Amino acid sequence: MLGILDQDIKFLPGVGPRRAELLRKELNISTFGELFYTFPFRYIDRTKFYTVKEVLGAQTELTYIQLRGKMLRFELVGKGRGKERYIAYFSDDTGTIELVFFQGIKWQRERLKQGQEYIVFGRSTEFKGKINMVHPEVDEPSEDKTGLQSAMQGVYSSTEILRDNGLGQRAFMKLQANLAQALSGKIEETLPPWLVTEQHLISLSEALLNVHFPQSPALMEAARFRLKFEELFYIQLSLLKQRSVRLCASQGFVFSAVGEKFHQCYEKLPFPLTNAQKRVIKEIRKDMGSGKQMNRLLQGDVGSGKTLVALLCALIANDNGYQAAIMAPTEILAQQHYDSIRDFLEDTGIQVGLLTGSTKKKDRKILSEGLLNGSLHLLVGTHALIEDTVQFNNLGFVVIDEQHRFGVEQRARLWSKSATPPHVLVMTATPIPRTLAMTLYGDLDVSVIDELPPGRQPVKTLHFNDGKRLRVFGFMKEQIKAGRQIYMVYPLIKESEKMDYKNLDDGYESIIRAFPPPEYVTAIVHGKMTAENKAIDMRRFVSGKAHIMVATSVIEVGVNVPNASVMVIESAERFGLSQLHQLRGRVGRGAEQSFCILMTDYKLSKEAKKRMELMCSTNNGFDIAEADLQLRGPGDMEGTQQSGMPVNLHIADLARDGQMLEMARNVALTILNTDPELSSEKNALLCSQLKKLKASTADYSVIS
Ligand code: ADP
Ligand code: MG
Repeated sequence: MLGILDQDIKFLPGVGPRRAELLRKELNISTFGELFYTFPFRYIDRTKFYTVKEVLGAQTELTYIQLRGKMLRFELVGKGRGKERYIAYFSDDTGTIELVFFQGIKWQRERLKQGQEYIVFGRSTEFKGKINMVHPEVDEPSEDKTGLQSAMQGVYSSTEILRDNGLGQRAFMKLQANLAQALSGKIEETLPPWLVTEQHLISLSEALLNVHFPQSPALMEAARFRLKFEELFYIQLSLLKQRSVRLCASQGFVFSAVGEKFHQCYEKLPFPLTNAQKRVIKEIRKDMGSGKQMNRLLQGDVGSGKTLVALLCALIANDNGYQAAIMAPTEILAQQHYDSIRDFLEDTGIQVGLLTGSTKKKDRKILSEGLLNGSLHLLVGTHALIEDTVQFNNLGFVVIDEQHRFGVEQRARLWSKSATPPHVLVMTATPIPRTLAMTLYGDLDVSVIDELPPGRQPVKTLHFNDGKRLRVFGFMKEQIKAGRQIYMVYPLIKESEKMDYKNLDDGYESIIRAFPPPEYVTAIVHGKMTAENKAIDMRRFVSGKAHIMVATSVIEVGVNVPNASVMVIESAERFGLSQLHQLRGRVGRGAEQSFCILMTDYKLSKEAKKRMELMCSTNNGFDIAEADLQLRGPGDMEGTQQSGMPVNLHIADLARDGQMLEMARNVALTILNTDPELSSEKNALLCSQLKKLKASTADYSVIS
């Protein structure tokens, strides 16, 4: 049923077909509802006045300042030379500032009067070292601009095109005012009354009115609170409901025993498990014994020992008569998992296989047989695992490593290799801040390894600009002399792939020049090489024959070469924080002091500088992920694109509203605990709202 919120925006007074088209193109607004749910991203306090002295003394530009004063005199400059401008000298008791107009000069000349008092509002800008104001709003003190008295004035995001077409802040606000009038008394509440009361919220209609035209700062806060809460609450309610439906519907294998295979491996481990590893294994065991299908995310910083956790849990599946599979994103990673797992399983009689794109036909056949007759207990591999030809006898447990590198669909295909879905463990070394995890993976259970194995020396991180290259090369030579190996990483960003490969090539050549063979051996690995050549060069590095590995960033997350103790990252400013942290995780795996060297351009943006500073000051992946979220916002965080869930929030901000998110989640949990189906009368509105919201967003109920 279409309501007033679904009305075409062109029917709103003040809009019409031309503006409707503009709004649709520029802001993706085509209905009344979409316009009303476009909220100000900040507010200006129109009760506050600056003095001219404060503005001139500020040194830098200020946004949105309001002055009260008189027009002293006017000047027309550059007449007839195409660069005409009209300057109004405006002053209060503290000084004089220039108001500059390039357009509408005729109109300004007619209306602005010498000696008259005005209120001036706009941004201060700096031009040739002088502060002035370009195109401020100038009003007589008595004028009310919006028709709605409001001390707090909303600022909406706009575009150049909108402004050029007469839809700037002022016009936009006027549209919102018209809309508020049109909708007055017609907004239906979207939360049940008992919940509104319980959470001390204001009504939806009051919230919507006050988010656009706050009648007071307190009401503005209350409005934003109500709208944020609702937004977060419904996401959590939806995710948690899906989760409980999944838990009820899908029977899981019951792995009740921890048996011989587990103990055989466990007792031979060359080191004790960390407490975090033990705790996580317990959590997984509990899931696997519950009779429900497990769907768990394991987060742990690079080097925290996730592989071993995956292996031990796979052995529990084996102990209960089921097969297990571990899927890694690249061939080299799969090979490494396979090698280290074989080491752990030596002399146990447990059968492990490796299946990748380059597995020979003959070997595939042997693997196939073992998989089908059940003699193969554990299969490690790449995407090759999800091909239809790969059939298991009884797959009971699946591990997906570095899950953000797989699409949702690929994961689902592995899932479907068994009539009863296997238990699923997805692992990631890209720590996701709690708030984001709760939204992206809200229907998954989350385990965290928050402890590194003992004896690891933290990596020392240093930042140099390109001018210090010779010094860095000197340091690299010292390290090589001391027997260490070095990674040298170049960015590879899809949009500038061509340039990037050129940089990589140039870099490789300059490395060869600075580190000439045969004294130095340099390997190179990048995505354009054949799998065979990649493997050859990779092996040269892993075996210790090559001193330096030149590579692009996209390859081989998770490679483990303990003797490599130096990571040099070229053009580090082009990497995001979590990517830098990932790369740094390649070193610091041996007993030696490791180094991460960030090379950047001399000139850096403020934000890039912050990233470098943060990298130099902390090794903690969760702190970095949190900072990344604050700096870039959730949309750009690694893993959000592929997660299958659009993080499309109108007003709540995952970076800032963590506490509210948690509160909203708890409220949703409490409701579902007593009414899992939301079938009671008092929750009827929740149920219908969920349906409505579901219809308007993509389905993200598939496994993550
Ligand atoms: P990640 O979590 O990044 O996948 P890995 O599983 O590759 O980490 O483990 C990194 C290294 O730490 C491996 O060499 C592994 O054998 C070792 N390791 C794992 N657990 C422990 C432990 N409890 N004590 C000491 N070393 C460990
Ligand atoms: Mg790993």
